[in-house]
Amino acid sequence: MEYISTRGKIGSIGFIDAFMMGLADDGGLLVPKEIPVISEATLKEWQSLSYQELVLAIFSHYTNGEIPEDELKELVEASYGTFRDPEVTPVRRIREDLYLLELFHGPTFAFKDIALQFMGQFYSYVAKKTGKKIHILGATSGDTGASAIEGVKGKEGIKICILHPTGKVSKVQELQMTTVQDDNVLNLSVEGNFDDCQRMIKELFADLDFKSANHLAAINSINFVRILAQTVYYFYSYFQAAKSTGKWEPVNFSVPTGNFGDIFAGYVAKRMGLPVGKLILATNENNILERFIHEGVYMPGDFRMTYSPSMDIQVASNFERYLYYVLNEDAAEVSRLMEQFKTEGEISIPEDALRKVQAEFAAHGVGGQECLDTISDYQAKFGYLLDPHSACGVAAADRCGQEGEINISLATAHPAKFDEAIRLCGIEQKFPSQIASLFDKPQRQTFVDGKLEDITKELIKFYRA
Ligand SMILES: *Cc1c(COP(=O)(O)O)cnc(C)c1O
Repeated sequence: MEYISTRGKIGSIGFIDAFMMGLADDGGLLVPKEIPVISEATLKEWQSLSYQELVLAIFSHYTNGEIPEDELKELVEASYGTFRDPEVTPVRRIREDLYLLELFHGPTFAFKDIALQFMGQFYSYVAKKTGKKIHILGATSGDTGASAIEGVKGKEGIKICILHPTGKVSKVQELQMTTVQDDNVLNLSVEGNFDDCQRMIKELFADLDFKSANHLAAINSINFVRILAQTVYYFYSYFQAAKSTGKWEPVNFSVPTGNFGDIFAGYVAKRMGLPVGKLILATNENNILERFIHEGVYMPGDFRMTYSPSMDIQVASNFERYLYYVLNEDAAEVSRLMEQFKTEGEISIPEDALRKVQAEFAAHGVGGQECLDTISDYQAKFGYLLDPHSACGVAAADRCGQEGEINISLATAHPAKFDEAIRLCGIEQKFPSQIASLFDKPQRQTFVDGKLEDITKELIKFYRA
């Protein structure tokens, strides 16, 4: 398997090089040259695999044998050994037609752990193998930062800097990131919103001299390995649901969406042959993607703060990957449209492409009150406490799923991370001890205004130290 750019100007590269490149050097995103298609017979064999075995089975189609099998196995064991549930991503049946895929049993209580604990191990592996320095640089709407820091804190040969928007992450998210005391960790608290942070990260990665001089590496979902690690739980949960219903039929997945990374992993799983019905895209009031699916126009609206801050994103970086497939892998057309997006702030796709989009996706933008009502409802009816992101997923599944269809809704975070919203529902929850203990710890972070040059200055200081 080789990797190419959505903008067509990178020659094919291997798996480890794609991992290390992060953002493609031509400004595009890396994708596999061909998405492998898995036969139904093989899928049925995969039903009996453990989560960890399934990771290995799926990765074997993407890694070109660049990592010896026993070493990859060790990396996978180390990545998921820290999870609190032996199944890693257990599936709960809530109603006849609704399953929740619990993705929050990792060390930082959100789904980001599934890819990032692995990527942390993998960066450490590459640092050891090559003796190269690795400086991870990322932007976070709250969960990516905590998880990536957890994955590499204190690791030799690695430094990590995370930008988060000041005051726009939940208290627990902020504490998880900033109470880590290791010297290889820098938290920059940035005046602005997540889109500002992500745009500056992309600019730093696009400056190829700066990128190579400073050994920059990406953990955001611009990195294809993150997407790949996230395809696994689509397979895993489908198999669990199929066992429970006794039927091998398409199911819908409802996915709380911000950067289009998680749901894009679902799209890859579908193209690999998993029987997926509709991919239901759940957003909050930052609903650029919902509007794209309904109208075929991609245009950011005004940034809104909501109860689900990890989805407070307007410009979704993985959208470009999907655009590439919708336009039949026409890299020249993707380049043209992304250039147009940069200059005009808006793009639209042709009618036939929109029909394809609508055959694959449904979408619902969940309002603030609707989100809180969903949390209260599911607590009252099923005794299940949803976090506000997972509540958006469930609300969208309830809205978009048709009679007789099975929906798997992704529960992307533990409610304790977002107590602000839970309390508004009049619900008191007990924090897991790992979260309760954060409140007594000292914080370390550097406040910067939203200017790229100030961030660059802090980075250079950190890398020289
Ligand atoms: C990151 C995040 C999302 C959105 O995932 P994307 O891959 O950015 O679409 C949803 N819910 C939670 C809790 C998250 O942390």
